[in-house]
Parts: sequence; structure tokens; C-alpha cells
Amino acid sequence: MTETVLGDVAPADVRVRFCPSPTGNLHVGNVRTALFNWAFARHHGGTFVFRVEDTDAARDSEESYDALLDSLRWLGFDWDEGPEVGGPYGPYRQSLRYDVYADIAAQLQAGGHAYRCYCTQEELEERREQARLEGRTPGYDGHCRELSEAQVSDYRGQGREPVLRFRMPDRAMVFDDLVRGEISFAALHVPDYVLVRANGHPLYPLVNPVDDALMRITHVLRGEDLLSSTPRQLALHEALREIGVASGPLPRFGHLPYVMGGGNRKLSKRDPEASLVWYRERGFLPEGLLNYLALLGWSFGDDREIFTLDEMVAAFDIHRVNPNPAQFDVRKCEAINGVRLRGLDSEDVARRLVPHLAAAGLLPEQPDEEQWALLRAATPLVQERMSVLSEAVGMLGFLFVDEPSLDPDPQAAALLGPDAVPTLATAAETLRQLDKWETASIEAALRDALVDGLGLKPKHAFGPVRVAVTGRRVSPPLFESLALLGRERTLKRLDAALSRAEAA
Ligand code: GLU
Ligand code: ZN
Repeated sequence: MTETVLGDVAPADVRVRFCPSPTGNLHVGNVRTALFNWAFARHHGGTFVFRVEDTDAARDSEESYDALLDSLRWLGFDWDEGPEVGGPYGPYRQSLRYDVYADIAAQLQAGGHAYRCYCTQEELEERREQARLEGRTPGYDGHCRELSEAQVSDYRGQGREPVLRFRMPDRAMVFDDLVRGEISFAALHVPDYVLVRANGHPLYPLVNPVDDALMRITHVLRGEDLLSSTPRQLALHEALREIGVASGPLPRFGHLPYVMGGGNRKLSKRDPEASLVWYRERGFLPEGLLNYLALLGWSFGDDREIFTLDEMVAAFDIHRVNPNPAQFDVRKCEAINGVRLRGLDSEDVARRLVPHLAAAGLLPEQPDEEQWALLRAATPLVQERMSVLSEAVGMLGFLFVDEPSLDPDPQAAALLGPDAVPTLATAAETLRQLDKWETASIEAALRDALVDGLGLKPKHAFGPVRVAVTGRRVSPPLFESLALLGRERTLKRLDAALSRAEAA
């Protein structure tokens, strides 16, 4: 298979790119695109280029540019060429390359591959409407392809400012998609298109393929939504070769399947779970999220769903990408994240918990020795019980506050009603007299006093103690929690709960 994917390109010469526009949050569909490109480059030992397509000044900002770089770093993608690392074909930020585009636009025009179009929006719309009425395919009709000098000076006299249009070849564009196989676009479905606005601003249809050509991109893996631009881009790549701006084989394209959200529609920018920030805030691990995203269209084989990035890189084969839409499933993403989380060593988990506990105001961003020790000891109690890191905030919060706040769930308060008085009083008394403050002795003493002594079922014995100490009906294992909390704080909480129960 590798031969047909690479064609004449030697593995080490493989060059792919990830080239998002820095418009706010990265979409998980884009992250999937980045992942597949990165895995493809690493699999073949080629080059992963990161380029920022920021020529849409109205939407792009310095802030989103910084956020984009931060996101890529968080995900762990290392790029071989791109912002901050540089490379031989830079700059890698399109807003720094306007002179390049202006030069190439001029060459395309001089070479007869592009021409000035003076049509106004109204005229274009009118002719589109006319085509519709006559049952013809609407689209630019080539009106300005061969204007006479008289027509041009007439238009100029009217003060019209021309756009620059690409002259599509009058033949079908056929290519072999790496995911979908042969695809053909009839000439009439790919009309001449605008490369440069009347004000001189170069557009995506120009700058994207021009940079792919100048940066010697060999393979373009991107979302299916861009499929319709591929015949135009291929024609432009051919033109760039004809005018000598580029050389070598045309890039090969592979279009990755749509990512579907709920209700069988594309996962949209408006869905909160479409944005990378949502995953970061909830405490997904980058490796967990990427493991899940790898399954959106690709499969490891053998139904295997859990794998490391290294394993993915070793196994990655673009021919195993399925062209059918992929269903996005947050639950499954969480489940996979949970598996990855449980596989980490607890020291590592503790480190990753800090930002989440800090965001909740439970720990400073730089915990001191004592706080670290407590966190390290507490992490194993929750590691098995979470699928995302932020769940630890609720579970471990009681350890990092002076007084736990009582869960608003009325069932929690109900456990601290008058019935709980003997339980809480006995528990407090027992623990006050306990010799050794450690899990096993705490458990033995409480079982002895509450279950054997008061004849309570374990659930009734320990429920009030749990709520008294953690504020919640669900917590990490109780006796370990008490051991970590320490005798003084445990007794203080039991006493406070007892007063509350007596007053209830
Ligand atoms: N900047 C374009 C986007 O984010 C890149 C499209 C492409 O990969 O060609 O949609
Ligand atoms: Zn025109």
C-alpha cells in the first residue's frame, strides 16, 4: 500500500501540513486533522509543517494566534517547521507573506492563468439567476476571459476595480483521493474563481495552494468539507508548475470523513463539545482525547481502541481511513480517557490535578510541601474513580478546605438529621480515643463501635460520618479519607455535624 500512497516520494521526503486559521477555539475536527497529518508524517519519517492561515484580518487576532500555539503544545504535537521553530520555507504565518502572494498572482496573470474580471456583484447575480432559469449550472461564466481593450477601458472609465480570477482548464479534473479513490469534477462544476480581491487582498483559494507548493507539501490530508476546493487547487498547482514557481509531482489529497454530532448533523462550532477548550477545562488528558479522536475515521485494527500515540504512529495507514461519516460520542471519549488516566502513575496524575484544584480555589498554583504531600497521598483514592481530572475537584475538595460545604442535595442533609445523633456522637468518641491514626485502626474502631456496638447496618453507620466529614454522600473510600484528613480536622467536623443533628 505504501507505494501507492507515496508515489514517487521517498518516505523521508514526505511533507504534510496542518494549517488552521487562528479563529478562536480549535475545533476537535481540526484536532483530528492535525493528528492524522502528524501521525502520517511521523509514520513515514517525513516533515510535519505547521502554518498559520491568518489572512482574514477581521477574524484573526494576536490572542487567537497565541491560543492556537498553546493548544498545539498542550496536545503535544511537535512541528518540524512553523511558527517559533522556523524552517527553510518560512515565514509560516500567512499574514507575513503578502509580498509572495502578490508576486505569484502577477506571474499567474502574465502566464495567462489568471485574468482581470470587472463584473459587478449585481451582474454576477443577474447572470446566475438567468442560468438557473434556463436550467444551466450557475457559476462564473467566463465573461471577462477575453475582453477587448475597448471593453477594458470602458470598464475602467466607469471606475470599476477588477478582481483577479483563475482560468480553470476546460476539462474535467480527476484525482485519486487517498481516502475515497478516484474523484472527478466536470469542468462546468468548477468555474473560474477569484484569487485576489479588487482591493488587492489575496484569498484562501490562492494562498493555501501557493504555500503548499512553495513549502513542497506532498500530501494534503484535510476535512471532507474542503473536497470541492480540491479541483481548483489542483489546477492552480498545475499552473504554478507551468510558470516555474513549483516543480515535482502534484500533492496527493486525502479527505477525512465528516465528524457527526448529535441528531445526525455535523458537529458544529456551536456545540460546546466541539471546542478543544471544553476538553481542557474538564480535565481530559491530551493523550486520552487524541486516542479517541484517532478512532474518528481510522482504526487501529483488531478492534483495538486503546493505544499510545507511538503505537498509532507505527500503525498509521491512510488507506485505513473510512470515508463514511464518523459519529462523535463524548461518553466514549470519556471512557477512553478514564482508561488512559488509570494507566498513569499517581505522581503524574497528582501533578496534572493541580491546575484543576487551583482553578477551583482549593490549592495555589504552586502548592507547598505539605499540600503536595496531601495531594500525593489522596490521588490514589480517586484515580480509579474518575474519567476526567476535574472530577477530582468534588471528590477531594474536603481535604483542602477548613470546613466542607454540605452538598445541596437534600439527601445529604437528611443523613445529618436527629437520627444521626447517636452515630455521630459514638463515632466522635471512638475516634477521639483511638491510639493510632491510620486507616486500618480507624476502620476497625468504627466498625466495632457503630456496627457491632450500636447494631447499625454499615450503610447507616458510615453514611452520616461520610457526610459529616466530606460534605457529600459519595466520596473516596471513607477510612482512607479520615486517615488523610487527620484526627483534629475529623473530630472538628464530627462535632460540628453532631451539633447540627442535635439542633435538627
Ligand atoms: N485554513 C484552512 C482551514 O482551516 C485550511 C484548509 C486546508 O487544509 O486546506 O480550513
Ligand atoms: Zn467578469
